[in-house]
Amino acid sequence: MIDDFRHKGLRRNMVKYLKSAKNISNNLVLNAFLNVPRHLFLDSSFLEFAYQDKAFPIGSNQTISSLYTVAFQTQLIDIQPGEKVLEIGTGSGYQTAILAEIGAKVYSIERHKELHKKAKNLLKKLNYHTNLFYGDGYLGLSQEAPFDKILVTCGAADLPISLLDQLKIGGQMVIPIGFKKQVMTHFFKDKEGNIKKNEYENFQFVPLLRDKQ
Ligand code: SAH
Repeated sequence: MIDDFRHKGLRRNMVKYLKSAKNISNNLVLNAFLNVPRHLFLDSSFLEFAYQDKAFPIGSNQTISSLYTVAFQTQLIDIQPGEKVLEIGTGSGYQTAILAEIGAKVYSIERHKELHKKAKNLLKKLNYHTNLFYGDGYLGLSQEAPFDKILVTCGAADLPISLLDQLKIGGQMVIPIGFKKQVMTHFFKDKEGNIKKNEYENFQFVPLLRDKQ
């Protein structure tokens, strides 16, 4: 696993791009992008594309989300060190690594066994201590609930209510909702347990699937 001066240079440029062209200003997010070796989460044949702002195949018919998508979601949900965070859709494990790099205690679920295993090996090699689960994330992870934050990294046709139930009071969830395109949607659970919703721009994700259907 090589991460040399060339990769680090590409990451510095990537961070400059996210800051100046994409309005990403949260320093915790930008630092995490500087430190996580994104090229290791793609097959080596995609090495030269790893720091471009595109989604790429990661096997099992799935894609790693584009740079901006990961940065936007992570900034929107305002991850803080020490928070307990649930991610639905581990995929390559890149977003998981970003959350862990910020210092969150991460729980992540993936429904493809091969992707789950690959991400688990890689995150371990990179010394990220994360809790990865193989299974259907549609229903969340009730045995570990409640969470400070829930981040869904696949497109949901509708809102999985059980996920909102697994948020702490004051907790936040970010989830892309829709069919062909998804509206990035932010939920906040206030002191009384009421849910406030805000909608942002459109993105395109692989679908959140329900295994039992
Ligand atoms: N966060 C990932 C994004 C991967 S794409 C990354 O950084 O690479 C979204 C992932 O969600 C895919 O790997 C897909 O298999 C997974 N997924 C879809 N429906 C799911 C479900 N119900 N439970 C768990 N994972 C799911």
